[in-house]
Formats: sequence, C-alpha cells, structure tokens
Amino acid sequence: MSETVPVTGSGTEVRSGGCLCGKVRFTVTGPVDDPHICACKDCSTRSGAPFQWWVGFPMSGLEWTGAEPTWFDTHPGKTARGFCPDCGTHIAARDYGDSTIIGILAPALDHHDTDPALVPTNLNRLPEAAPWLAQVD
Ligand SMILES: [Zn+2]
Ligand SMILES: [Zn+2]
Repeated sequence: MSETVPVTGSGTEVRSGGCLCGKVRFTVTGPVDDPHICACKDCSTRSGAPFQWWVGFPMSGLEWTGAEPTWFDTHPGKTARGFCPDCGTHIAARDYGDSTIIGILAPALDHHDTDPALVPTNLNRLPEAAPWLAQVD
C-alpha cells in the first residue's frame, strides 16, 4: 500500500506530485476543490497549450518536499504561478491575500490519470481558446 494513493472522500487523503526533472516535489493533504479546466489567455500562453487543468487543495495541507517552485507574478499583488526553474514544469498558482487554497496543475500530481476526484467539473472558457476542440456541454 502506498500512502500516495488517494482515498476519495475521506478529507484526509494525501497526494504527491512534482515536476518532470524531480527538483520540485510536494504533497497535498485534504479534499479536492473545484477541479476545472481553464483556457484563459494566461493559462494558454504560459503553458503553450490550449488550456490547463487545475485543482484546488487546502493551503494548510501543502508541503514542499523538494525544492519550492519559482514564483512568477502573473498579476502583481494578486496572483502568482509556480514552476520548476530547471525543467519548466507548471506546478501551482496562488492568490495573494488568500491563504486557504493552493491551485495545483493536476498533471503535476503523480496519479492524476487514475484519480477520479480530479476529473474536471467545469470547463472554463474552453471555446474561446480552442474552437476546434470537441466541446462538452
Ligand atoms: Zn523540474
Ligand atoms: Zn486560466
């Protein structure tokens, strides 16, 4: 049994994650908040992809077990996004003044492909980013 395999719904599940090169590593403990896709200009430009897949966790349950990401202020004084300075993997986002939630990019989680709790429930602004993508109602 691995302690990183999530147990959905308990509220105390622990998930691990990190970047492509392994420099940035973290764990998040607690329930998933608002898994969604965002296709805003910030998300698409920074990722080089049509959209990004976000999921929130309690900030109190976040622990950097490797290096902490480098933070870039997408909107100075309002929001910052964290990435690995070595390999460039997008890891996280946080709002200044909100110490309750950390936004994590779901693909940075080790088991994002098999974790049903991470399935997006909201497709934010998808049509404006990639009208050629199949749209989900
Ligand atoms: Zn890295
Ligand atoms: Zn966005």
